[in-house]
Amino acid sequence: MSPQIAVDLLRRKHWIFDLDGTLTLPVHDFPALRLKLGLTEAQGTLEGIQKLPPAQRDDVMAKLNQIGWDYATQSKAQPGAVEFLQFLAAQGCQMGVVTRNNHVNLVESLRRIDMEKFFADECRYSRDQPPAKPSPEPLRKLLTLWQADASDGVMVGDAIYDLQAGKAAGTATLYFDSYNHGGLEDLADLRITQWQQLLAFANI
Ligand SMILES: [Mg+2]
Repeated sequence: MSPQIAVDLLRRKHWIFDLDGTLTLPVHDFPALRLKLGLTEAQGTLEGIQKLPPAQRDDVMAKLNQIGWDYATQSKAQPGAVEFLQFLAAQGCQMGVVTRNNHVNLVESLRRIDMEKFFADECRYSRDQPPAKPSPEPLRKLLTLWQADASDGVMVGDAIYDLQAGKAAGTATLYFDSYNHGGLEDLADLRITQWQQLLAFANI
């Protein structure tokens, strides 16, 4: 990790987070989930559902919503994530969350991990307000709401959609790779595997 880039990112005042696997511990097994939903192609779950015949689509989306709810009720915070958000709040940063999950699952997850207080209602975007990531649209809406320039923003996430959305919106991108899988470095200004790595710089 480049210390200079870390220090640089921490100067930015507008932070947009992915939810699942970034603020929460990762529990979603997306390939297994797609199989369970009858989506066999190697593509995003939401994109796969969109390609289904209309008669099937609602049924599969209802199943996805239910599975997402079951995961949401078991949400646990990533170690150090609350402390990192507290640090940002103390710096007067604006914070938003953008997820491909649905709205009720987003709210339930935030409640379970005790992070509701960090994200105002108007700063929570889900797939219920399309287009979803990798579209940069929700990020742009947040920046507009905050009257902020993308050059003062950071998009944080563990998946390709998060980093693609950040790149397209023009923010810095932080790859939160808690599994230490790698593979998305080309889309990221910085890669970390734990929140404590950034907190170490925050406490300087
Ligand atoms: Mg994620």
